[in-house]
Amino acid sequence: MAAENWQKLVAEYKDYFKAKRGQPFPEDPMEQLWGAIGAVFESWMAEKAVTYRRVEHITGLLGTAVSVVQMVFGNTGDNSGTGVCFTRDPSTGEKSFYGDFLPNAQGEDVVAGIRTPVPLRELERRMPKVYKQLERARQVLEKHYRDMQDMEFTVEDGKLYMLQTRAGKRAPAAVFRIAADMVQEGLIKREEALERIQAQDIDRLFYPVIAPSVPRHDLVQRKICTGINAVPGAAVGRAVFLAHEAEEWAKRGERVVLVRRETSPEDVGGMAVAQGVLTATGGKTSHAAVVARGWGKCCIVGCEKLFIDYAAKQMSSNGRVIHQGDWITLDGSDGTVYAGQVPLASPEMPKHYHTILKWADEIRKLGVRANADTAQDARKAREMGATGIGLCRTEHMFFKDFEHPERSADRQLAIQEMIIADSREARQRALDRLRPFQRGDFIGIFRAMDGYPVTIRLIDPPLHEFVPHDAEKQKELAQKIGLPPELVARRVEQLSESNPMLGHRGCRLLITYPEILDMQVGAIIEAALECRKEGIKVIPEIMHALTLDKKELKILVDETRRIADNLIQKAGIKLHYLVGTMIELPRAALLADELAEEAEFFSFGTNDLTQTVMGLSRDDAGRFLPEYLDEEKAAIFSTDPFQTLDLAGVGMMVEWAIQRGRRTRPHLEVGICGEHGGDTESVKFCYRVGMDYVSASPFRVPIARLAAAQAIIEDKKRGKRASR
Ligand code: PEP
Ligand code: MG
Repeated sequence: MAAENWQKLVAEYKDYFKAKRGQPFPEDPMEQLWGAIGAVFESWMAEKAVTYRRVEHITGLLGTAVSVVQMVFGNTGDNSGTGVCFTRDPSTGEKSFYGDFLPNAQGEDVVAGIRTPVPLRELERRMPKVYKQLERARQVLEKHYRDMQDMEFTVEDGKLYMLQTRAGKRAPAAVFRIAADMVQEGLIKREEALERIQAQDIDRLFYPVIAPSVPRHDLVQRKICTGINAVPGAAVGRAVFLAHEAEEWAKRGERVVLVRRETSPEDVGGMAVAQGVLTATGGKTSHAAVVARGWGKCCIVGCEKLFIDYAAKQMSSNGRVIHQGDWITLDGSDGTVYAGQVPLASPEMPKHYHTILKWADEIRKLGVRANADTAQDARKAREMGATGIGLCRTEHMFFKDFEHPERSADRQLAIQEMIIADSREARQRALDRLRPFQRGDFIGIFRAMDGYPVTIRLIDPPLHEFVPHDAEKQKELAQKIGLPPELVARRVEQLSESNPMLGHRGCRLLITYPEILDMQVGAIIEAALECRKEGIKVIPEIMHALTLDKKELKILVDETRRIADNLIQKAGIKLHYLVGTMIELPRAALLADELAEEAEFFSFGTNDLTQTVMGLSRDDAGRFLPEYLDEEKAAIFSTDPFQTLDLAGVGMMVEWAIQRGRRTRPHLEVGICGEHGGDTESVKFCYRVGMDYVSASPFRVPIARLAAAQAIIEDKKRGKRASR
């Protein structure tokens, strides 16, 4: 640019400054310097910096530092320039020198992307001496920091100046390759490699993401609303508002996103075929979140600004209306909903991932199981490195046949008939029809888990969740089971509760309807015996949910054993099984020593335990929790207690229960099966309080394996011995 143009440009900048600040641009260099320093300090609270800290969970820092250094210029001619380089390729992790150089330019020109730089090879050709020096800086800095570096440099009249260096951001595959390579090169120890991997690095390996090539401004224009990021990844599909319609659309080959105010077991069919799930209410442990997480399916919940009109089959937010069939895109990583089809990219699985996870397995002592409800999930769980199932939610099988979806209607009808039945005989008839379905499902799961324990939880949700609530569907059901529609409507009405989460659910259902227990335990044991005949090693652990009293548990355990032992004896086959309980209520935790007299194992259901200890509804807390978490607002909690265990309160209850339980039964097996079992900090806590295993949804199993190893490494560093 010619000198007079510079003069014009500088004058324009000065005018702009004066218009904005109401005073002329300072001419005193010291005043300019202090102004610049102040601007850096203030940048700490700039919106993008605040957002970055929120997304990266960076909290508790006071602010930024400022370094004042002498300026050098890369724009003094062709013998000058500036560039950014990485000590290894940030996309692949390959050990090659990677970077861009912009001749005759200043740093900001590279970052702003207004001119196209040349590769480092070109710098080597043009300025071989400078390149050699830069290559040396690459080696010195990487060796010193023992991590891949992202470095900025300027060349002023043939002289190299290093401006800054920092650990470089890298693609998911590169994270694993760099860590593994650095161990092989002797630069870091295995423990350090393991410590460097974060849960997000693993998450990012499995889930598709919004393609990095999509321009930001395009995303901003498409944004409809934001909710709670329940399951990461991204999904594109046509919005459909009813689960059964989602199934019909999917059958026609359409890609759909299921949009609901909230979901219930009735919706699992639609959820299973959807690319992603979006709900207006709920938090990270709501039904939608838990089920979608189990399948590794993108899910956004608690979109409070989303208004869903089922009758008109449309949703609206911020004045934007999306009709059924319109394309939408979900970004489950940050909880944003976009209009239209945004292109996605699927990351690749690097071989170094397996190396790193093998190292984690060699170090950890905590077992890692999976929450899996079907044979399909169980196979996935083993693929992800789970050595057992810590929670099989049997009710999910009532609504869908996952191996043969076309056969789902039979089991749906049987469970609904069982619920509507007004006599024990009618209920028994329906249960007899359900039994073979359950038995078949358990056989599939036992086969997939050959040699590993399978914890099966008996029915848990309130029965009203399984029956239709609209008159039309009730009429249909009445016709199918040959009962008057008024009777069906009355029964549904009878089942409705104002506080179902604290109502007739969990083991309370089995106390009042013991025939359900008989059917489920019978199906489990028959399946186990069948598998034993095939030579499969089966280790069933039968689990009762939501217990709160020793006498209650004794009734359940006695009945469980009566049914099971009878079948085992008749078959004449040796089969060892355990009977235990979930700890989901404060009373159960407080009286754990008494419960341990009956239970052979404890599994902490920390979704419900968090709900009941904190008095926070897991389905509704999403309405105000964001404010409790927001650093700029109330900032009461630093993390969502439904995601990371509240160590101070719920954690205290867990620790108490383990100690009490083991006082009665020293070898009591203890695990966790709430969503916290796949959260890094919660897993570390579980190890430290002496649990035997954690159980997480299949896609979070690797995160738990890694966290279990990290807990040991951290304790070793702090000079602590493991508690068990
Ligand atoms: C729990 O409460 O933590 C649990 C695992 O059970 P559910 O989520 O099915 O209530
Ligand atoms: Mg529960």
